[in-house]
Amino acid sequence: MECPFCSARPEAILYEDELIRILLDSYPANRGHLLVVPRRHVESWEELSGEEKVALIRGMELAMEKLREAFKPDGFNVGMNLGRAAGQTVPHIHLQVIPRWEGDCAHPRGGVRKAVLDLEDENLSMRERWVKNRLREEEVERLREAFGQHFE
Ligand SMILES: [Zn+2]
Repeated sequence: MECPFCSARPEAILYEDELIRILLDSYPANRGHLLVVPRRHVESWEELSGEEKVALIRGMELAMEKLREAFKPDGFNVGMNLGRAAGQTVPHIHLQVIPRWEGDCAHPRGGVRKAVLDLEDENLSMRERWVKNRLREEEVERLREAFGQHFE
C-alpha cells in the first residue's frame, strides 16, 4: 500500500520545508486536526535524526500558532501513537495536533490519558484505577535503575 503521507494529496498539504510537512488529517478527531510528519518515510521515533526531531517540535508550534490565528481554540491535544500496540496505523511517524474548544466534548478531563482507557476503565474511581495500573515497588525500582545517575 502506498504511504498516505509520502503521497499526500497536494490539497491536504498546508506547509512543507526540507524536513517536515504539516497535513490536514483525513479522518479528523476534531475540527482543525493537523498532522506534523517528517518528509522522509520513517516509521519510528528512533529512526529520526536529531534535526528531524527538533523540526517536528517546531512544526507542532507552527501548527498551534496557525490554528490559534484561524480558529481561536481554547486548548490542544498533542500526541503520537508510537508502535502498533499504541494504536499507530500508518507506518510513517506523525505528531497529531488536535485543537480543542470549551464544551466540544462532555468529559474532556484527562485528555490524551484516555488513549489507553477502555470504557470500563473510564468508570473506575481514581482509587480503583490506581490499584489497577500502578507500578509495583520492584517495577519502580527497575525504572529508577534505568534512569540511574541521570537524577541529581
Ligand atoms: Zn511515508
